Amino acid sequence: MINVSSSVHHLVPRSRLPQNLIQKLNPINTAIKNDHIHSPWHQVFANLTPFEAIIFYITIIAPNQFSYAEIIVNWEGIFSEGFLLSESNFYNFQKCKKKKFSKIAYYLSKDLVPIKIVETIVREWAPANYFYFIELVDSCDNRFNYYSPELRLAENSV
Ligand SMILES: [Zn+2]
Repeated sequence: MINVSSSVHHLVPRSRLPQNLIQKLNPINTAIKNDHIHSPWHQVFANLTPFEAIIFYITIIAPNQFSYAEIIVNWEGIFSEGFLLSESNFYNFQKCKKKKFSKIAYYLSKDLVPIKIVETIVREWAPANYFYFIELVDSCDNRFNYYSPELRLAENSV
C-alpha cells in the first residue's frame, strides 16, 4: 500500500526521457518518496535529471564547497559527462532556491555535510547504476568516489 503522504517519484523525470523509453524504464526509474521531501525536491530541482541536480547543487547551492568534481552518467543510452574545478561560481547565485533547499537538506544529510548530500542524491535519487563514475573532493578534502559495477568489473580484469 502506498501511504497517503507518499507518491511515486520518477528518478529521471519522464519529461527528460525519449518517448519510447518512458514505459520500458518505469520499473527501474521510479521510487516512492514521502511528500515532505518529494515536493521540496521538485521546488528546488524542478525536472532536472539526477546528474543535473548534482551539478546544480555543486555550482549554485553549495558554491566553493568542492575543489574537484568529475561525474559521468552512462545509463540506458543516456550519456552525460561533467568536469569542474569549482574555484569560481558558474552561475549567479540563486538565493531563493538556496532557501528552499534548506527544507530538504536535512533529509538528504542529517549533518548537512555537502559531500554526503551528493552521496544521498547518488544513492537515493538516481536509478541504480545510473552513474558510471564519480570523483568528488570537498574543500575540507573529504572524498566521495563511486564506480559503477560495470566499471569495477572492467578495472578488475585489467
Ligand atoms: Zn518526483
